[in-house]
Amino acid sequence: MTSRAVSFWLNPQELSFQSGQDLPNLADVVVIGGGITGISTAYWLSRLGLHSVVLERGELSCGATGRNGGHFVFGTNQSFKDSVAAHGVANTLALWNFTRQSAELLKDLTEQHNIDCDLRFNRLAYLAMTPEQAQSLQESCELMMSHGLAIKYWGKQEVERNTQCSSFSAAAVEPHHAQLWPAKLVVGLAKAAQQQQAHIQTQIEVQAVTRQAKEFRITTNQGEIQAKAVVYATNALTYHLLPVLKGVIVPVRGQVVATAPTSQLFDFDWCLSNDTGYAIQRQDGRIIFGGMRWKSPTKEIGLEDDSTLEPLVGEGLKAFLRDTFSSLKEVAIEYEWTGIMGFTADENPLIGELPGRPGEYISAGYTGHGMPVAIAAGKAVAEQIAGSAQTPIPKPFWPERFLLG
Ligand SMILES: Cc1cc2nc3c(=O)[nH]c(=O)nc-3n(C[C@H](O)[C@H](O)[C@H](O)COP(=O)(O)OP(=O)(O)OC[C@H]3O[C@@H](n4cnc5c(N)ncnc54)[C@H](O)[C@@H]3O)c2cc1C
Repeated sequence: MTSRAVSFWLNPQELSFQSGQDLPNLADVVVIGGGITGISTAYWLSRLGLHSVVLERGELSCGATGRNGGHFVFGTNQSFKDSVAAHGVANTLALWNFTRQSAELLKDLTEQHNIDCDLRFNRLAYLAMTPEQAQSLQESCELMMSHGLAIKYWGKQEVERNTQCSSFSAAAVEPHHAQLWPAKLVVGLAKAAQQQQAHIQTQIEVQAVTRQAKEFRITTNQGEIQAKAVVYATNALTYHLLPVLKGVIVPVRGQVVATAPTSQLFDFDWCLSNDTGYAIQRQDGRIIFGGMRWKSPTKEIGLEDDSTLEPLVGEGLKAFLRDTFSSLKEVAIEYEWTGIMGFTADENPLIGELPGRPGEYISAGYTGHGMPVAIAAGKAVAEQIAGSAQTPIPKPFWPERFLLG
């Protein structure tokens, strides 16, 4: 079967959305970007009674959200141990709780608005391939347990039994994890926001944001709009509108393959513990596997083109599946695609009002782990704008750490 440079998640037959038509002249808040961040923010703004206008240059979810690996991982981006070393215990637990809160919101929203996005709560195994990785996993597990977090450690025999493969030395198994169809979540949430009077318009590119006294003029390829506040939900591309973020949020390209449906191999999702690969097996049997960007000489850092594939990374992904799991030797790869992540130096996003720029807000730079953050982030940013903050933003996410006002 030939592979296509098309994301499995962006099948137009699965996603039908009616864009708003005429661009309004005025809004309380303009949200730039129609991925999970922008749509979550608009949803919460409309629940708080603020009129929001979302402007998306392509179709909803055409950025990283429609091109990712389908994981909803609880916890910190760094290992628990590394996060504690960098930010201390209290901050690390706050980050952990933020993703937990996102998961609860995700469950409530999908139930309340009947959003069918193949949401499945599952376990996640971090798989170690070397004794050093196993040691590091064990240390992180022990630290997590000492702080009351549920995590299980599998030694060599247990990991072999559970994966039916001898390549792994150990695993840390996180009982709280989910997999989903991200673009379906975005479309469902966008429809719910529209019912709450949010205006969501696709095929509108924002070209500039200009401050005018206490308001903003947003210039687009289809005219101008005036707003009291602006939210940058533009992920890796934010620096094009906000040059001050060049080098703070860096574009990095990831690549993913989807196999043909195959027999169920795993009753958990998994990531390689050194962060070089991540996989889910969907209920239809299809395995979605991403990572291996280290196979590219550039490690795909600085790339913004998500219309092409890197053959070395593609071959790395296919070889890993083929060579690691005997039952996948002959499995067909039906889809292969790329997407652009926004990386920061400390692997945490920037969430909240930009220092020295009242009325300008951001949620971006998730460093490849946006799904479990963006839902609560959208709520927190919407509350900041409405002046009703109920969802505290953990300190390691504050933009001030990179940008002084
Ligand atoms: C290959 C890959 C695998 C990943 N795997 C996972 C995973 O398994 N789990 C996980 O949690 N995270 C994963 N991520 C990261 C996750 O997808 C992102 O963190 C998340 O989707 C970010 O959402 P967002 O809405 O902020 O950004 P995006 O989804 O990128 O949305 C930003 C939007 O802004 C629009 N935009 C940009 N500039 C403008 C402009 N000037 N005018 C109008 N619109 C504009 C873009 O078109 C885009 O649609 C992965 C990412 C990639 C690329």
